Amino acid sequence: MTIETSVQFLRVAIVGGGPGGLATAIALSKIPNVEVKIYEQVSILREVGAGISIGQNTWNVLELLGVADTLTSGHVIDVHMNLNGKTGEELHRQVKPGDFKRPQIRTQRTKLQSALLEHVPAGIIELSKKLVRMEDKGREGVELHFKDGTVSTADLVVGADGIRSVVRDTAWPDYEIKFTGTTVWRALLPWDDVVKRDPRFATTAWWHGPTTHVWLSAVGEGLGEIAARNWQDPATHSANKVSWGVPVSNAYVESQFEEYLPQIRDVLSWVKEGDWREFAAFAGPELAQLTAWDDKVVLVGDASHALSGAFGSGAGFAMEDGWVLAQALRYYRNDVHRALSLFGRIRLPYYARMYAHLADQATHRTERLRALGDTPSYDDRVRVKIITDGGSDMSWIYKNDIGRVWEETISTL
Ligand SMILES: Cc1cc2nc3c(=O)[nH]c(=O)nc-3n(C[C@H](O)[C@H](O)[C@H](O)COP(=O)(O)OP(=O)(O)OC[C@H]3O[C@@H](n4cnc5c(N)ncnc54)[C@H](O)[C@@H]3O)c2cc1C
Repeated sequence: MTIETSVQFLRVAIVGGGPGGLATAIALSKIPNVEVKIYEQVSILREVGAGISIGQNTWNVLELLGVADTLTSGHVIDVHMNLNGKTGEELHRQVKPGDFKRPQIRTQRTKLQSALLEHVPAGIIELSKKLVRMEDKGREGVELHFKDGTVSTADLVVGADGIRSVVRDTAWPDYEIKFTGTTVWRALLPWDDVVKRDPRFATTAWWHGPTTHVWLSAVGEGLGEIAARNWQDPATHSANKVSWGVPVSNAYVESQFEEYLPQIRDVLSWVKEGDWREFAAFAGPELAQLTAWDDKVVLVGDASHALSGAFGSGAGFAMEDGWVLAQALRYYRNDVHRALSLFGRIRLPYYARMYAHLADQATHRTERLRALGDTPSYDDRVRVKIITDGGSDMSWIYKNDIGRVWEETISTL
């Protein structure tokens, strides 16, 4: 920690060591008079899940954090396709522009985590620290109580504890997340044999049924990823809130995709028994404020916007949050009230735009489905489901340059 006598001293407790927590710690460790701790519930930092996409927006924030050059593993995605999983018909193909300094990649989640960890200063991560409750101690700060019986106190708690956030549940007791109906099964497997089975598997692609899809993509280092998902009406199906990264059997996963092409079913069956992990997707409404308890608590990442993987860029959003939070504290010399107000001013409208976009998309899809009449065919339902980029400019997400957003905002202050 660097010390500057004219800057307020701040004890910051980050709860959660995912991309949001690690990025926040890296960014905060570069500003004076901030003592940072990360409290993470697991005993060994090991990412669950399989792959992760790193697009332009995520590269931008990784550059600002000084981490971009450390992330060297990944498969470049220059084309992606959408196909009918039953017939193999190609429905949409997008060629990615090749003019970026860093192309979009799909990498293993563990590679992103290792790259971030290399930049987290030594000694600030405390493992096996599961937060169970917090207490507002007024001017003394916030008391954090952990499952192992220990207690620590901080001036500012950063809730980076993901979509099932205990920090959010404590400081926003009325907030609720609900099962979206989507269940995702993910696994990694050696990719050479997969591509031999069907050369189209060399291209990153979604293979669709009307309410399911199988995503296949190389992730680098000879490995590939399968992320298969199924949607069931949440009005009639429920899921356990803790169902996140739990092992499931091959037979169970394969039974969801029986109508798919034989080569896709083969690939599903090649996953080693015990390697499939199930993720039940939960989502929650937009928050009106990202801070609570008189600016002693702030949320970043999935805890702050429970969008459940929508946009496939949540790690990027989480890291942008952490970087902006640190810049705002630096700008206002650790005056949390002014800094958190600036943080909210930048991040709240961004998340509001995402929620609005998803609501629009849902309406649009329902209308298109209704237009097919009472008994749409399998293939028509698949066609309606495909989201193409046509008509909707998504550069505000996938090309977001958080450094520029920051500069533009402070130029108006
Ligand atoms: C199916 C799916 C696919 C996705 N694909 C992509 C993608 O391609 N690209 C992308 O950028 N994003 C993707 N995302 C989103 C991305 O995974 C998340 O948005 C991102 O991991 C959020 O980071 P985070 O740090 O906010 O939370 P998390 O990654 O959830 O990390 C939270 C951390 O907090 C810890 N924790 C939780 N509770 C406690 C507690 N009580 N005490 C202490 N520690 C605690 C957890 O152990 C964990 O380490 C996907 C998400 C899903 C569901």
